[in-house]
Amino acid sequence: MAKQYFSRRNLNFMLKEVFHADDVTTHPYFSHLDAEAIDMIVDAAVQIADNIAAPIAEEMDRKQAEYENGGVTVHPRVKDYIKGLGDLGMIGAGAPMEVGGSQLPELVNSAAGFIFGAANNAITSYVGLTAGAARLIVSFGTEELKATYVTPMYEGRWQGTMCLTEPQAGSSLHYITSSATPTAQEGVYKIKGQKIYITCGDHDQTENVVHLYLAKIDGAPAGTKGISLFVVPKFRPENGQLVDNDVKTIGIYHKMGQKGAPAAHIQAGSDDNCFGYLVGQAHQGLSYMFQMMNEARLGVGMTGASIASAAYYAPSSTLRSAHKGKG
Ligand SMILES: Cc1cc2nc3c(=O)[nH]c(=O)nc-3n(C[C@H](O)[C@H](O)[C@H](O)COP(=O)(O)OP(=O)(O)OC[C@H]3O[C@@H](n4cnc5c(N)ncnc54)[C@H](O)[C@@H]3O)c2cc1C
Repeated sequence: MAKQYFSRRNLNFMLKEVFHADDVTTHPYFSHLDAEAIDMIVDAAVQIADNIAAPIAEEMDRKQAEYENGGVTVHPRVKDYIKGLGDLGMIGAGAPMEVGGSQLPELVNSAAGFIFGAANNAITSYVGLTAGAARLIVSFGTEELKATYVTPMYEGRWQGTMCLTEPQAGSSLHYITSSATPTAQEGVYKIKGQKIYITCGDHDQTENVVHLYLAKIDGAPAGTKGISLFVVPKFRPENGQLVDNDVKTIGIYHKMGQKGAPAAHIQAGSDDNCFGYLVGQAHQGLSYMFQMMNEARLGVGMTGASIASAAYYAPSSTLRSAHKGKG
């Protein structure tokens, strides 16, 4: 290991002695796995963390994501990380094989997430968001949405996001004003509105960005009971081409500790050419979105454990240089 940021011995103790990960493989759903396969998955995660994530952690923080001419640039090796996890089947780790997932126990998926987060906290957002967004489509989307979006997301070619917050609506999603106007095609709507603080909401390391976007259909009930969920891609697939879907990035925020992952301010439909595809039933969007929000909450908890581990193993010389000049 080039740089230590976690203890494999401690992780193995938790996996094997405390949580008995090997027992999980006796469950029929996980019969494709055994103890050796679990070790190999953890080994592969360590390889990616050691070779890609950890070496660029400091650089990603120093050279933060930048917004220029309507586009967002991030560290060029983010692509290797996303693609590496896609190739390893880790983006769809928890998803059933029938939808292209790896059908791994959450325990093993979490162990890998812990390793990546300790190696480079900012980089984990990219894949975490994609996994959660794809899972929303798998859980509630039509067969057509699943067929179009899930595979490129699990392969690491398309980024996923969650779009809840608006400039005037944070905790109180009651006040969102993003609108969805029905078109002649069932399930297809014209979307207009703004979203802020959208983690990984735009960048140059994937071919597309797939927003899971909360909006209100014209005439919907007031408040949270009138919120629906849509797939709003940056580029919409049409006749085998990716067509600009009128989702513009109008700024980014830099978050302390995660400067390598942009938080985008996006505008949908300013040219009246943004299409969104309804996920599930109209007006049920917030309850669907809670699936992803709950996953994100667990992810934030894991972030705390990962950062604590990285801090514990950081050489004291690194800590001294980080605090140099700060008294
Ligand atoms: C690291 C990070 C990543 C994020 N990523 C995303 C993302 O990917 N997608 C996305 O949609 N959003 C994202 N957000 C935005 C996040 O969801 C919002 O910040 C959050 O919903 C809070 O909204 P706000 O910042 O507008 O604060 P506000 O809602 O204005 O809250 C400010 C304060 O007022 C309090 N408050 C608010 N309402 C009430 C009330 N009714 N009664 C009493 N107290 C109240 C709050 O508790 C808080 O202390 C992210 C935020 C952070 C920090």
